[in-house]
Amino acid sequence: MSCRCFLFLVSLLIFLVPLRALRGARVSSSMSKEEEDHVAVLSDITAKQTLAVFFHILISFAEVVSLILCLTQRTFNGFTNTLIVTECLANAGLLVLCSGTLRRGSCGDGVASASERERCERHRASSEAYQPCEDADWQQIVEDLACRGITLECLLTFYKGLAETMPHFDPHLHTTMDVVREVVIPGSAAERCGFASKMMGGRPLRPKRMVTHNWSNLFRDLVAAIVADALQQSSFSLIADLLDTDMSALEQMLGPEALAMSYWVCAFSVNQHFSICNVNLEGSRDPVTGESHPVCDCGSVKYFNDTPPLRNDGKGIRCEMNKFQDMIAFLSATDAEFAQVIAVDRDFNLFNRAWCVAELAEASRMGMQQHMKLVSKEALDERRERLDGLDVQHMKAARPEDAQEILSKIPDVTAFNAHLHDMLFGSQGLFFTWAKLDLIEQAAEIARFALLVARCNSFEPVTQKRTHKDMIGEESCGNAGKLNSVV
Ligand SMILES: [Zn+2]
Repeated sequence: MSCRCFLFLVSLLIFLVPLRALRGARVSSSMSKEEEDHVAVLSDITAKQTLAVFFHILISFAEVVSLILCLTQRTFNGFTNTLIVTECLANAGLLVLCSGTLRRGSCGDGVASASERERCERHRASSEAYQPCEDADWQQIVEDLACRGITLECLLTFYKGLAETMPHFDPHLHTTMDVVREVVIPGSAAERCGFASKMMGGRPLRPKRMVTHNWSNLFRDLVAAIVADALQQSSFSLIADLLDTDMSALEQMLGPEALAMSYWVCAFSVNQHFSICNVNLEGSRDPVTGESHPVCDCGSVKYFNDTPPLRNDGKGIRCEMNKFQDMIAFLSATDAEFAQVIAVDRDFNLFNRAWCVAELAEASRMGMQQHMKLVSKEALDERRERLDGLDVQHMKAARPEDAQEILSKIPDVTAFNAHLHDMLFGSQGLFFTWAKLDLIEQAAEIARFALLVARCNSFEPVTQKRTHKDMIGEESCGNAGKLNSVV
């Protein structure tokens, strides 16, 4: 026990030395943002270490006295109980430290890092500058679209339902595109609505997260990235495995709060019957059956960017696909907690898709929180070099005119590429932040995951691994109580 205390004291000293040096530098000269960040991170760790030493001293004291009492065979029940309670409290304190509950602060709590403060400032400025569109019809569609969020619970119900709605579904082969073409579009053809409205039983839902993803991503990985967000995990390979092999264990790990978390996912939230349902431009095929994806014969009118009625600037008022930027601005300006989840595919193709990159740039410009979910740290190391040469001019969209439209909004392509590069690889960039989190909060993240697994195991022992195909018809999205009852 004293050995444990000694180790904690040593590690505290290890963090204190560079912290003192950095603080000294701050006194003697002006500090860069990056250095200020390092001071904030080290201060954070040192504070937690100090608390950890305190809890360990408490535990050690309780255990030593318990041992003495035990050895001398004396029975001071009241006193012994006090010691047990002390030990439990100290252990609970350590658990809180490891769980990541005491995370570094964000806007408004006074302990945010320099980059976080800068983001908050950007968010404040963009929120204050936000003006709804003067065209009332346009704004109405923006707000309708914005309220097509889905809960994680409904998403998981949909995923399990694929066993019935798409019996040949293979999580290792089928992409989001396959699922949209084979289930989402046919499943909402009768109502000619966005599938999200159907999933939520017609109930509008304002989302807390906007999910940026590419349709060529494995659908299973998209769902895994969203679950990772709800579980505060930065990588999703373990979750993807659980989706394949042990869905019930995963459901037990998700509490009611996580299941109620709301997400905006274009594949579900946009009304595909107003745009792409009747054509298969790419000639895409199902990877298992080899058959062409079906086209929809709902007969709904299509609304593209140039379809009347038009706004003063010539943009289609009823088109949903030209409103993402307005929608993000509306949600971000009216909800400081609204954040972006970036569900990165295993090949990192997301960064070559024009829509996705436009969303990344827009969310960054508005100072939104951006949570990037990668399959694993190893995947990032493998792909890093290939991502260095990203150029917005080479990015693609399903409709070339969309890519052109996105490109036309960029006044200086060279400057945009430099900004994109900085946004991803700069000292405050998404990858840097991800890697930093991986180093500094890795232990906390593992602890959180271990706690979730422990919690899951405490409910019911998993005696038999079940795939999602074994769960046909167990729950429906409307049957919310059933999923909750599992938790
Ligand atoms: Zn249709």
